[in-house]
Amino acid sequence: MSTIVKMIVSMFLCHILFFGPKVNAGVVNRFEVEKYGDVIWEVPSKKKQVAITFDDGPDPVYTTQILDVLKKEGVHATFFLIGKRVEKYPEIVKRELKEGHEIGNHTYNHPSFHTISRHKVVVETRKTEHLLDPAHHSDYIKLFRPPGGTVTENSLKVLKKEGYKVILWSWHQDPRDWTNPGSERIARHILTNLKNGDIILLHDSGGNRSQTVAALKIILPKLKEMGYEIVTVDELLKMHPRYNEFHETEVKKEEAPLLIE
Ligand SMILES: [Zn+2]
Repeated sequence: MSTIVKMIVSMFLCHILFFGPKVNAGVVNRFEVEKYGDVIWEVPSKKKQVAITFDDGPDPVYTTQILDVLKKEGVHATFFLIGKRVEKYPEIVKRELKEGHEIGNHTYNHPSFHTISRHKVVVETRKTEHLLDPAHHSDYIKLFRPPGGTVTENSLKVLKKEGYKVILWSWHQDPRDWTNPGSERIARHILTNLKNGDIILLHDSGGNRSQTVAALKIILPKLKEMGYEIVTVDELLKMHPRYNEFHETEVKKEEAPLLIE
């Protein structure tokens, strides 16, 4: 082996040793958890339905614009909200609910779930839950999306105890709108990869989201033209083979072993 090849091989091994295991430590294996419905990436079915989700809001500029577009097209979406932003802009959340959209918990501070303690997961979740008051109707399934889509085995245990259904997104439906690749490109990514039961990931906050708003104006009429019904995540979950069990997961607060200090 030449010296250069040896160097490359040893650098690669060092990278695996020092970075690989840490980055993925404790992250759940999709093929182990998906079959139980504990974590949802998509809900494949024969029905031509897809769900559009927005993360990191509310935002006073872009969420409002997105709500205007959704209203014009008569479409309902699911918003995964950051608690500290909900505190700042509660009127936008009220509008989301009033206009028939669905809301989910996206933590209070948006911390990384790679290194978070179980206790911190409870604090982050309950602080936002308290703000969202998810008990606004009886058959509500509590939805949670972890920051960056990271679900560790530890955090999943806590979230299940807290009665949450963890909602990620279809791997082929992340157009990375937050990198501002252009509205046409965002729209093309979503439309060309589309499958029944997809969960589409977009963002209504975290920077200039005007490309997301513009992309939405292209996507919504096109989806209708293609015969797709745009539904909330809860509606999409009804097509899941274990849907009936989803309502039984909630543990009453007083039974939960971890409490906010
Ligand atoms: Zn996020």
